[in-house]
Amino acid sequence: MANRLLVKTLKISPAAARRLSSATTPPIAAVLPDSTPPQSPPPPSSSATAAALLDFRNSNIFSPVATSDLIRSSINLGLSAIEPVADLGSWLMRSRMMDVPGIRPAVVAAVRRTFFRQFCAGESVEEAALSVERLWRSGLRGMLSYGVEHADDNESCDRNFLSFLRTIRSASSLPPSSVSSVVVKITAICRISLLRRVSDLLRWEHKDPSFKLPWKRRTLPIFASSSPLHHTPTRPDPLTPDEELDLEFGHRRLESLCHACLQADVPLIIDAEDTSLQPSIDYLSYSAALASPGKDGKVVLYGTIQAYLKDARERLRLACGAAEEAGVAVGFKLVRGAYMSSERMLARSLGVPSPVHDSIQDTHDCYNDCVNMLLDKIAAGSSSHLVLATHNLQSGKLAAVKAQELGIRKDGEQLQFAQLYGMSDALSLGLKTAGFNVSKYMTFGPVEKVIPYLLRRAEENRGRDDLLCYLY
Ligand SMILES: Cc1cc2nc3c(=O)[nH]c(=O)nc-3n(C[C@H](O)[C@H](O)[C@H](O)COP(=O)(O)OP(=O)(O)OC[C@H]3O[C@@H](n4cnc5c(N)ncnc54)[C@H](O)[C@@H]3O)c2cc1C
Repeated sequence: MANRLLVKTLKISPAAARRLSSATTPPIAAVLPDSTPPQSPPPPSSSATAAALLDFRNSNIFSPVATSDLIRSSINLGLSAIEPVADLGSWLMRSRMMDVPGIRPAVVAAVRRTFFRQFCAGESVEEAALSVERLWRSGLRGMLSYGVEHADDNESCDRNFLSFLRTIRSASSLPPSSVSSVVVKITAICRISLLRRVSDLLRWEHKDPSFKLPWKRRTLPIFASSSPLHHTPTRPDPLTPDEELDLEFGHRRLESLCHACLQADVPLIIDAEDTSLQPSIDYLSYSAALASPGKDGKVVLYGTIQAYLKDARERLRLACGAAEEAGVAVGFKLVRGAYMSSERMLARSLGVPSPVHDSIQDTHDCYNDCVNMLLDKIAAGSSSHLVLATHNLQSGKLAAVKAQELGIRKDGEQLQFAQLYGMSDALSLGLKTAGFNVSKYMTFGPVEKVIPYLLRRAEENRGRDDLLCYLY
């Protein structure tokens, strides 16, 4: 009966429903008992072979489980994939209806019980810390991400900076290496309007090298010959003294976070945004990486490369090569990219080609090429670090097999895999069982603050009939 209900309401295969109802393991962090003392993750299976790596779904990766939690996760993931539900939810959360008395608390309460519970690690740093400990007991690590996204003035930037600092301190109080990194959005610690201006100026300098930027610090290459420059059609005005000062504050906030990370022995990961802002984000990130190098080949800061961009391969090659030349270990988180619709819409409105690959296959090829490039470099002795942030089974398998063939240390820090909390647990556990270093990207914060993050998940999952396979 329960099986039939699952097949019907969630549109999953009878086999998946059988797995669900016979499963004895909960979705990782949610069901591990709080009373279990923290311990090191179980050692990797020595019998993990390339062949086993290719068969995540059939391997016995789930341990004892509460069926009710699996069903709850399935319903939440299933709901987020139903287009009218995702569209209605996204419209409501962005609409003026949220200002009508009584609507906002009702929507927030509904989101808290469903999508928030599925995709977020808690409302406070303390709750997130408990989720990390539960996750750690299942052998996975946490990438702690305080879910604040944008700041429009220096006061908000300072407030967000303090929250990131608290997150780093909390990471250092958790079991050693249970937190693989702390995530920061540059848009939360430097005014977004200023980031747009700096991106414009950097783009213009790239177009016209005689255009001087007196405030510019040492950094790594942030453009390639194929990089889109359409956002800046005319020569921008120079920064005003106030803008220069605010930019300096942005640098200092980021460098203080790097310093705190160095002390806590946990790296910082910088998320990538859309191409109108990304040049300034890369500029600030890479200049902080050069200013705060880690000791003994350790990495302090990871930037993020979005493989759906046509210039991703070339930018990655240039940045990685320049970091090697500078003798600084820099990390790269490799994602496909979450702003495809807005990138395409903007390019269409300007009448220019989209910076995003023309087909999903091109994005997949670019992602896998970038992974191969970095794995080859790591195997050849580069100090570059790689976080493979993906839910794509094929990319996960290809990378796992290639890393194994190249003899790259599976449990080392140079290669890590990461999936979002609440998604792709099978891939995470399969890779972990095969001996790899795997993290969950754990967004936390007050429900209202993380709504933009939840909206991106809704857009990403909308209409995906393969979503439940991603969980199991
Ligand atoms: C740990 C982690 C951290 C992340 N951090 C960031 C971040 O900092 N910045 C960011 O932007 N995203 C980030 N993401 C989200 C990520 O970019 C993807 O949106 C998401 O992971 C889905 O991609 P996938 O690799 O799992 O692949 P899949 O689900 O196999 O592929 C879906 C992706 O392919 C691309 N795509 C889909 N259709 C087309 C098409 N027609 N043409 C071209 N390309 C297409 C899109 O990028 C889409 O998201 C992160 C994801 C994870 C797991």
